[in-house]
Amino acid sequence: MTSRTRTKPTVIITAGATAEPIDPVRLITNRSSGKMGMALLRESLRRGYPTILVHGLLSVPLPQGRYRAIEATTARDMLRTLLRLRPGNKILIMAAAVSDFRPSRARTGKIKRTPRGLTLRLLPNPDILATLSRRHPPLVTVGFAAETGRLISRGRAKFIRKGLDLLLANEVGRPGSGFSADRSRAVLLAKDRPPRNLGILPKREIAGILFDELERLIPVSPAPSRGTRTV
Ligand code: C5P
Repeated sequence: MTSRTRTKPTVIITAGATAEPIDPVRLITNRSSGKMGMALLRESLRRGYPTILVHGLLSVPLPQGRYRAIEATTARDMLRTLLRLRPGNKILIMAAAVSDFRPSRARTGKIKRTPRGLTLRLLPNPDILATLSRRHPPLVTVGFAAETGRLISRGRAKFIRKGLDLLLANEVGRPGSGFSADRSRAVLLAKDRPPRNLGILPKREIAGILFDELERLIPVSPAPSRGTRTV
């Protein structure tokens, strides 16, 4: 058996926004729609990888196809779920926008309006990628960075801090790129290579480029041509 015909590893994709409860009706969350995660999911299925989706809140529907979907809404749920999935022999693509903070406690009753206002104490959430890369490093780890400028320098710092193999740094905060948009202005960072500026591309094309890069790191059989969709 040659490396070209080896069984494909499982791909775990996280997508959407995590949400941290303040009380039974209020959340701390973010603007991630899950569109990038869904584009990655479709690309993974098209290329024939066994795929598991771990998702937070999504504003787009889940695509049809043969894959396992697990909901994990808070950052800590997502970390627990990923640890249970034993990422050691799997590819992990962290496209989810994870809340960096959570309220120090989620109240059981709805917080009432008061003229004095309200102060919430926030605690830092675990950094999922950094934790996994220390404790159970996946076969290949791909991160996403949502930045409002200085894509390359900020992306590089995250690449190192989170122990990544690939990082896609996205421009957010401008119309037409990033959260909720169908396209993104992105830069791809890989180990031992100069940053690759992708310009503004549809998320479907970004997903294709990312899988091409990923397959340079791990030998697998080639993708079917675009005409032969499997989902
Ligand atoms: O939010 P940030 O730009 O730091 O996210 C960069 C990458 O780190 C993303 O892939 C995101 O899914 C991941 N992340 C994480 N744990 C966090 C925050 C972000 O793994 N607490």
